[in-house]
Amino acid sequence: MEDKLWTRLTLHIHLLTFEIQTTTRMVLPPFKGSTFRGAWKNVLTRAYCPATPEERARPGHADTCPACYLTERETDPEARKPYALRPPLTRETDFPPGARLTFGLTLFGPAWLLLPYILSAVKSMGEVQGVGRRVVGSGPHKRRGRFRLEAAYVEHPLRTPLRELLYTAGQKMVFVPQNGAITAQDIQETAQALLAAMPLTGTLHLRFRTPLRIVTQGKLMRTFAFVPFYQRLVERLFLIAQEFGDPPLEDARAALREVMTATLPLAEQVQVVEDRTWWWDLKGYSSRLKREQPMGGLMGEAVLQAPKAVWEALLLPILWGQFTHVGKNAVKGQGWYEIGAIRR
Ligand SMILES: [Zn+2]
Repeated sequence: MEDKLWTRLTLHIHLLTFEIQTTTRMVLPPFKGSTFRGAWKNVLTRAYCPATPEERARPGHADTCPACYLTERETDPEARKPYALRPPLTRETDFPPGARLTFGLTLFGPAWLLLPYILSAVKSMGEVQGVGRRVVGSGPHKRRGRFRLEAAYVEHPLRTPLRELLYTAGQKMVFVPQNGAITAQDIQETAQALLAAMPLTGTLHLRFRTPLRIVTQGKLMRTFAFVPFYQRLVERLFLIAQEFGDPPLEDARAALREVMTATLPLAEQVQVVEDRTWWWDLKGYSSRLKREQPMGGLMGEAVLQAPKAVWEALLLPILWGQFTHVGKNAVKGQGWYEIGAIRR
C-alpha cells in the first residue's frame, strides 16, 4: 500500500555542485544562502530577461522566459520554485583572494533543461555581479567579492559514480552527464537497502545542515518534533510533484489528503530519542518584502526511533526530502538535511 502512495512522486532531481575560487576579497554572512540566492537571481534577470518590470509582472511571462521561469515566481510567495540553493556550509565570513568555496543547486524537473543558462549565470555571478558585501576598491564604487567558477559537477549521491564533471575552467566546455537525475527508482532502491539492514526497531539520524524552519499551527517549531516536520515535508513533495513532476501530478491536494490519512498515524509513532539540535538565530534581508526577515532555525541532529513497519511506510519521503529541503526558505537553502546512515 505504502509504495503505491509514494509512486505519485515522479520527481526528477538534478544536484549541481559548483567549486569556486575567490579572485578578490569576499565578505559573506555566516549563513550564505540568501546572499548567493540574491546574487544568482539578480544576474539571471539582468542577463537573460529582456522584459521591463511591468512586462515581467504579466501572467504567462515566466512560461517563455528562462530567467523568470527560474526566479520570478517570487512574486507569489506560495508558488514553488524549481530549485533550492545549497549554500556553502562554512560559517566563516571573510575570504581572501584564492579562497575555495563550494555551493550547489538542486533542480526540480524541467529546470535541468536550462543548464546552459545556469552555468553561464554562475560564471557571471562571479565575474560580473560579485557576491556579498561591497568591500573591493574604495569610494562610492566599491564592488562585491568576485570569484571564478573552477568546476561544476552533477552529483548522484545514491549511485556510482557519485559525481560527474560538467564543466571545468581549464577546458571551457560542457560535458554531457551519463547518470542524470535522481529518480523514484533510486529512492526506492536506497530505501530497500536501508530497510534490509534495519532491526525490528529502526533508528534514523537526521542531520540539519542548514537552519530548519518549520511552522506548525501558526507557530515556529523551536524544539524538533517529527510530525510537523513530516507534514511540511510531504506537502512540499506533493506540490513540487504537481508543478515539476514528470508527468506533473494531477490533483495533488486530494493525493496529499489521502497520503496524510494513511500515514499520519504512523508518523505519530516516531519518537525523538536524542535531540542534539540547537537554534541558530538568523536574520536575512528579503528583497520581496523589502525588510529584514527572521530566518532562524534548528541545526544539529535528531535521532529518531520507530518500529521497522513505520519506516517502511515513511522512508521514501524522508529520502526525497534530502534533495528538496523542507520548511521555510528552502529556495534560499534552508531546511537542507541528510540522513546520517546514507552518507557515512
Ligand atoms: Zn523574464
